[in-house]
Amino acid sequence: MSRAQAILEAERYFDGGRFVEDLARRVAIPTESQNPARASELARYLEAEIAETLEHMGFECRVVANPAGKHGPFLIAQRIEDERLPTVLSYAHGDVIRGQEGEWRAGLEPWKLAREGERIYGRGTADNKGQHTINLAALETVLRTRGCLGFNVKLLMETGEEVGSPGLQALCEREKAALKADVLIASDGPRLQASRPTLFLGSRGALNFDLELVLREGARHSGNWGGLIANPGIVLAHALASITDRRGAIRVPEWRPNSLTPSVREALKGLVVENSEEWGEPGLTPAERVFGWCSFEVLAFVTGNPQRPVNAIPARASAHCQLRYVVGVDPEDIVPALRRHLAREGFGTVSVTPARDGFFRASRLDPGNPWVRWAAESIARTAGAGPAILPNLGGSLPNDVFAGTLGLPTVWVPHSYAGCSQHAPDEHLLASVARDALRLMTGLFWDLGESDLGGLDSGSLPRKEV
Ligand SMILES: [Zn+2]
Repeated sequence: MSRAQAILEAERYFDGGRFVEDLARRVAIPTESQNPARASELARYLEAEIAETLEHMGFECRVVANPAGKHGPFLIAQRIEDERLPTVLSYAHGDVIRGQEGEWRAGLEPWKLAREGERIYGRGTADNKGQHTINLAALETVLRTRGCLGFNVKLLMETGEEVGSPGLQALCEREKAALKADVLIASDGPRLQASRPTLFLGSRGALNFDLELVLREGARHSGNWGGLIANPGIVLAHALASITDRRGAIRVPEWRPNSLTPSVREALKGLVVENSEEWGEPGLTPAERVFGWCSFEVLAFVTGNPQRPVNAIPARASAHCQLRYVVGVDPEDIVPALRRHLAREGFGTVSVTPARDGFFRASRLDPGNPWVRWAAESIARTAGAGPAILPNLGGSLPNDVFAGTLGLPTVWVPHSYAGCSQHAPDEHLLASVARDALRLMTGLFWDLGESDLGGLDSGSLPRKEV
């Protein structure tokens, strides 16, 4: 049995309709982690759907309660063929955001898979059920074709990714031995372009925080007081305007990364990023701005009552803001650095409070890492051309847990695309990308089971006896 045969089997799985069938069953389980009424669906997805599939493939599975208490459980599964073989850890999330029933285009609904030509619609098709369905099927295809995988696999599936992965860090600390592996290979997020296979090696971090200025108790009549007292909306607008220049280039020195190194620049060179405007740090390419630099955003800004304005000087103004940041910016210093900046600019009365949720640390693997080269070569062998390689994704993922806590090289192979309506009505997966991804992942897992892992350090990765 050969690599080509395995890839043919993967094509048959898609062309014969079994992929859509498996995904339809998974999409039909409404695993909304943001909706407490769906708590039992989260456990059902892991136990009745995923563990069931994995047990047929010879995995040992256990569902463990979330160390963070009330949130959804985790599935830890493993299939160990030989302790001396390399071990891959994969990660996925079984939860989805709210279904947004009633907001989908006519004829579509979140929990019922619908294929219309190139598009496969349903909640979770892109994020993340379609992606892990591809990876599980690729593993199964290699197992069936070869009779064994030729490597060990561990899988960690969580059910709280869409509420900020509560308990993931604590679980990985506690289960560090059980999750020990040589590499993380997982799939989430978009390809750079739909038609181009992509690898990304980490993610930007994200920190949300509130700026608030309260000048007095209660609003004051704007006729009697206008001209006498300060307007907090205007003061806060100036404070916000001091954080970047007019085109959004960051002015807080500590938020300007020193990590856009020649090797990162080299990896980003030639990557086409669509839809960019004249915005952000001047002198950088669009790819450098979104993957190699920080961005500051005002997500919401309010003073007075925008729905019912009255002729009064508001007492307070506030803004909910976010910094997306790359490796090289100290996450502990993001808020203190902003406070120092505002004090320097004369806005010391504006308070800065980090939000409790929505914090992701930045992570990044060197594009020259041997696992990256190995994965890129395998993909090139299947696709006929090399993948786009992003040192990190522009968005955020809990990747620092795998890179930091578990100490793994992290290689992500995304199967979605930017227009997939993730986190919105009409979420979909592209059929051609799903089919292509099944081929690529089957090739990748096939190659992982080959005796010779090429340029990889054979100290920790013993070669199989052929
Ligand atoms: Zn998501």
